Amino acid sequence: MPSGEAAMAQYRQRLLPVFNPALVLARGRGAVVWDADGREYLDLLGGIAVNALGHAHPAWVEAVSRQAARLGHISNLYASQPQIDLAGKLLEITGAGPGGRVFFANSGAEANEAALKAALRRSGTGADQRGRGPAQPGGRGGRILALEGSFHGRTLGALSLTAKPAYRQPFAQFTGPAEFLPAGDLAALEAALADGGAAALVLEVIQGEAGVLPPPPAYLAAARRLTSQHGALLWIDEIQTGIGRTGAWMAYQNPLLGGPLADELDGRPAQAAAPDLVTLAKGLGAGFPIGAMVAMNAEAAGLLQAGDHGTTFGGGPLAAAAALATIQVIEDEGLMARAADLGARWRADLAKAPGVKAVRGAGLLIGIVLERPNAPDVVKAAQAAGFLINATGPDILRLAPPLVLTAAQAERFTQALPALLKETP
Ligand SMILES: *Cc1c(COP(=O)(O)O)cnc(C)c1O
Repeated sequence: MPSGEAAMAQYRQRLLPVFNPALVLARGRGAVVWDADGREYLDLLGGIAVNALGHAHPAWVEAVSRQAARLGHISNLYASQPQIDLAGKLLEITGAGPGGRVFFANSGAEANEAALKAALRRSGTGADQRGRGPAQPGGRGGRILALEGSFHGRTLGALSLTAKPAYRQPFAQFTGPAEFLPAGDLAALEAALADGGAAALVLEVIQGEAGVLPPPPAYLAAARRLTSQHGALLWIDEIQTGIGRTGAWMAYQNPLLGGPLADELDGRPAQAAAPDLVTLAKGLGAGFPIGAMVAMNAEAAGLLQAGDHGTTFGGGPLAAAAALATIQVIEDEGLMARAADLGARWRADLAKAPGVKAVRGAGLLIGIVLERPNAPDVVKAAQAAGFLINATGPDILRLAPPLVLTAAQAERFTQALPALLKETP
C-alpha cells in the first residue's frame, strides 16, 4: 500500500476536487481509526454522525457478511424480508400512527427528495381541503417552508431547501422556490402559515451543519400545532439527529429538545402530535448507505402513489440488514442511554475548558463554541494530536462520535482540548 502522502497525491490526480480530505484512512475498530501510515486517531466525528456503532462492530460485520452471502441486490421489482422487517422497526421507533408507510433510499439527500415530492403533491389549500396536489403539467402545489441555517442535502431538490446561498446560487437555474424563515421565530412561522397556502414546513430539530443549533424551548411543539392548524405537513429531517444520536431514537422525541411533541398538545395521543414526514439516513446504516422517508400517517402515506417515485437500489436487502443490525445493537448495548448520559457529562466537562465560550447539542451531537474564530486550525492541531473532529464554522467545533465511545476516550479529548485551544494561533 502506498504511503499516506503518495496516496493523497493519487487522490488529487484522480478525484474531483469537491472535497479536500485530511487523511487517507486504512482501518478502524470501535471509536479508533488508523491512517495509511499506521498512525492512530480517536474518531470523534464518526463519519459525520454515521458510524453509530463505531468501526467494524462484530454484530454489524456479521449481519452484512451473512446477508451478502445470501442475497445482496434484487431491485424493487421484488421484495425481501430484511426490508419488510426494517420498515416495521422504523414505523415503531418513529412512533408512526395507523397507515404510516416507509420509502427507502440510499442517502439523506435522496430521503429528502422523496419527502419533497410528497410535499409537492400536497395541495396546501388549508386544513379543510387537504389532499394530493395537482399532477397536471404546470399544476402548483402549496408553498414549501424551510428554515434559515438549514442543511438538507446537495441534490437539486434537497438543495432547494438548504439555506446557504453559496451552495444554492451556482445552481439556481434548477433549484426551487422554497421560503426560508428565521429559525426559532414563531411569529414568522405563524405569519408564513396563516393563509393556509403552505404545503409543508421542513426543519431539523438540531441544525447540525449550522453549528449544532438546538431550537428554543417550545418551538417544536408550536411548529406542530401551527402546521396542523393551517393544514401544512410537518416534515422533520432527522438525518443527522435520528437513530439514537441525541439519546432518543428521534430528536423530536427527546424531552431536552422540546419533545415528545405530544406534551404540549393537551393530552392528545402521541401519534397525533408526531410529525407527518420523517427523513433518516446517516446513523441508520451505521456506515452502510441507506436513507428512509417515513410517512407517519395514512394521509402523508397517500401523497405518493404508484409511479410517483422510485429507486433501483433503495431498500435493498444488504442495506436493510445493516440497518436492522444497527438498531438491534443500539438496543442491546443501551447506546441511547449512553449517548444521553456520557453526552451530558462530557458537554459539562468541555464547557469548563479555557477558550470555550459555550457547548451545545444533545446526546453525542455536540457543538463547541470557541472564544476565538480559529476552529479550522484547532481541527488541524487536534488531528496532529490524534483526534478527528471538524469545524462547522469559524468558531464552532463539532463532535459526533460513535455511540460506543467510552468515558475514558471522551476524557482523553477533554484533557487535550485546553492545550489545543491555547497553542493554536
Ligand atoms: C447529511 C445531511 C443531509 C444529507 O445527507 P446525504 O446522505 O449527505 O445526502 C441532509 N440533512 C441533514 C440534516 C444532514 O445532516
